[in-house]
Amino acid sequence: MLRLEDVQRKLTILHSYDKVFRGSPVRQLLPRCCGKQFDIGKLLQMEVKQITVEVEGDQVMMFEVVCPVCGRVVPPEWEIRKNGI
Ligand SMILES: [Zn+2]
Repeated sequence: MLRLEDVQRKLTILHSYDKVFRGSPVRQLLPRCCGKQFDIGKLLQMEVKQITVEVEGDQVMMFEVVCPVCGRVVPPEWEIRKNGI
């Protein structure tokens, strides 16, 4: 059964993936919990919420996810890339 909310959620993740995880200067690190790292394939099957985080005075969009193993909300972690590298 295809649910519209699921499709919309997946589209949102796909649409924002590059900006969030490959952005510059701030990029979110792939979420980790229970010894696993959640890549795009996993994220599409997980509960994912878009949140806004303030980083050095800028509002940056990131994903907050719920670990499918333990149910913990995994807050975003990020790195700041200096000099656009
Ligand atoms: Zn977990």
